[in-house]
Amino acid sequence: MTQAIRIVTVLAIAAAVAVSSCATPRSIETVSAAVFRPVVPAPLKVSLTMPTFTFDAPTPDYLTRPAPRIDLHDRATLADDNLLALLSGDITQCRMALDAAGVEYEEVPPKQTRGGCGYEGAIRVSRSDVAYSKELLMTCALAARMQLWEELVVQPAAERYLGSRIVKVKALGAFSCRNVAGSRKLSKHAFGQATDIAGFQSADGRDIMVLADFRDASPEGRFLREVFRSSCEVFDTSLGPDYNADHANHFHFDIGGGGRFCR
Ligand SMILES: [Zn+2]
Repeated sequence: MTQAIRIVTVLAIAAAVAVSSCATPRSIETVSAAVFRPVVPAPLKVSLTMPTFTFDAPTPDYLTRPAPRIDLHDRATLADDNLLALLSGDITQCRMALDAAGVEYEEVPPKQTRGGCGYEGAIRVSRSDVAYSKELLMTCALAARMQLWEELVVQPAAERYLGSRIVKVKALGAFSCRNVAGSRKLSKHAFGQATDIAGFQSADGRDIMVLADFRDASPEGRFLREVFRSSCEVFDTSLGPDYNADHANHFHFDIGGGGRFCR
């Protein structure tokens, strides 16, 4: 009896399972829908920004490098051979330096004369910080050197020995197509690279002349001797009354030579 009950129970459960399985086709669809539900793609997050490429050629540094400002009132300029070479070799830089220093001048076109004289990069200077007794035709480089000389040599000596500043430079000239005296060699004057200075006028009205005062024990004489001695540090060649009789009445200063000669 017990065995019969067990068999009946098993059959009943099997039948129930069979009926349940056949009667629920929708549940299969539900499972399939769950498994194969359409995949909704996530929004694309692709950046369309193009990378930046730079094809610019590097700018040469001589185009971006600030031009040196050549200060004709600064002793450091006198000690810098590169700046002095720039004044001689770059007329634009030289004129800028003169402009900044307040030098008044006119540009002069290049010139070559028979006999080998001539110049380029020349100007006609009418005054600097001080008046000139006459216009001086010379290279810009020499005008710049004169400006350094006035500021660093002449005015300090004037204040020390004269108690007054110089207001006028008395010049004999600059450009002149001629030989060195007593020789067949062209003078630096023949290239606008030399100037001759006969004396000065002070703010308190004194005329101080090489011919009259250079050997004098007076303040004027001491001023002139100090000016000449210190000029040797500014110009390439400095010649004065002690050099020869030709220079009894003036100082000769020039640039453009190799080395220094001072007598
Ligand atoms: Zn001379």
